[in-house]
Amino acid sequence: MPPQHPSAPSPGRLAVLRGPRPPQEYTARKITALTANPACSRRAVLDAAGVDKALLAQRLGHEPRFGQSPFAIRREQSFEALVKWGGYAELIRLLREQLDVPVEEAAVADLTEVGGDASLAVRAGESRRLLNRLAAGADERLILDRPVLTLEVAGQTAHVIPQALSHRTGGQFYVVEIRSFPAIDGQANPSAVAQTTKQAAVSVLALRQTFTELGLDPKAIAHRFLLICPKDFSNRPYGKLIDLRQELDALRFQLSRLRRAEDLAHALSPDATLDTERPKAEIDATMRELDASFTPDCLSFCEMSRYCRDEATDCASPARLGGVVRNSLPGIDSTRTALRLLDGTSAPGPAEEAVIIRLRAAERLRRLRGGSTA
Ligand code: SF4
Repeated sequence: MPPQHPSAPSPGRLAVLRGPRPPQEYTARKITALTANPACSRRAVLDAAGVDKALLAQRLGHEPRFGQSPFAIRREQSFEALVKWGGYAELIRLLREQLDVPVEEAAVADLTEVGGDASLAVRAGESRRLLNRLAAGADERLILDRPVLTLEVAGQTAHVIPQALSHRTGGQFYVVEIRSFPAIDGQANPSAVAQTTKQAAVSVLALRQTFTELGLDPKAIAHRFLLICPKDFSNRPYGKLIDLRQELDALRFQLSRLRRAEDLAHALSPDATLDTERPKAEIDATMRELDASFTPDCLSFCEMSRYCRDEATDCASPARLGGVVRNSLPGIDSTRTALRLLDGTSAPGPAEEAVIIRLRAAERLRRLRGGSTA
C-alpha cells in the first residue's frame, strides 16, 4: 500500500529548521505561554524546534525585552537554596503545617544528575524508577528534587521539571513550586500566583501522565500544589496550598487545541530556515510563512512579540488593537478594509454586510455621545 503522505516530513525536519544550535527545551513556563495563544502556529513551531526565541528576535532586529531580570533569577536561586537547606527542612516544616502530617524528616533524591550524568533522558529514567517505588509504597519519606517528567505538547515530547515532589502525605504527592515574590500578610501578587499556578498545572499533568504510563493511579497526585515564597519582608519561607483543578481543565483543553508542530513544519517551503546564523531575510521569509495570531497580550509572555506586533501593524490586522476589535470584525482581516467599507469606498460583500451595519450603528452612538457631552 502506498504511503498516505508520500512527502511526509523526515523525523528531523524541526531540527533542520533550527540549524546547528542545540535545542532549547520546553519548560513549564514555555508550555503555559504556548497554551495562552493556541492559535499561533508560529510559536508552536519555534518552541517545538527548540529555537532560541530571544536570540531570533534580536537577529530580526527586535530586542526581546522579556523574561526575568538577572537580579530576579539570582534572588529566586538564593531563596530556593534556603528552602532546600538541611535536607529540605523548611519544606518538611511547611508540609507539616499545611497538611497536619507529623513527619519530622525525609530523605531527598537529587535528580539534577544521576551518577554524574545530567542528560534529560537519564534523569527522566531515574525519575520514573523512583516514582514507581514511591507509588508502590517503598521509600515513603522521599522528596524528589527536580524530577524530570514528560508531557506530549503539539505532537512533541516535552520535558517538564517541577522544583520538587513532596514525600507521600495523607496518601498523596504534592508538586512544590518555590518563588521569590513575597506573601505580605498571606497575600502574594495575584498575577504572579496565577502564573505559578499555571506552571504547577503543567507539572501535575505531566506527573499524572507519567503515573498512567507506569500503570499507577494518577489520583495519587494531589490537585493542589504547595507554593513556597518569602513571608512578609523577611526571607522566612511561607507555604500555601493552592487548588488547580480549574487550571488543569483549562490546560488540557488548550493542549488539545495545539496543532502538530511537525505537520506545520512540513507545510513550509523546502528552503525554510529558523537558523539564527542564516541571513536575516531568509529567516524573515520563513517567519512570514508561519501563521501568527498576535494580540497585545503577547507582549507579556512571548519573546517574538515586538516582531509580531510590527508585522500586525504593517498589515493593519484588527488583532493589533486587541481581542475585542478582532472579534468585532469577523471576516475582515484589515482595519484599512473596514475603513474603506465604512466610508463607502468599497462595497461590502454579503459576509461583511452585518459587520458594517454594526460598525455604522457604533459610530452613530459615538457621535451622539460626543454631541451630548459637547
Ligand atoms: S508574539 Fe507572535 S509568535 Fe509569540 S505568541 Fe504572539 S503571535 Fe505567536
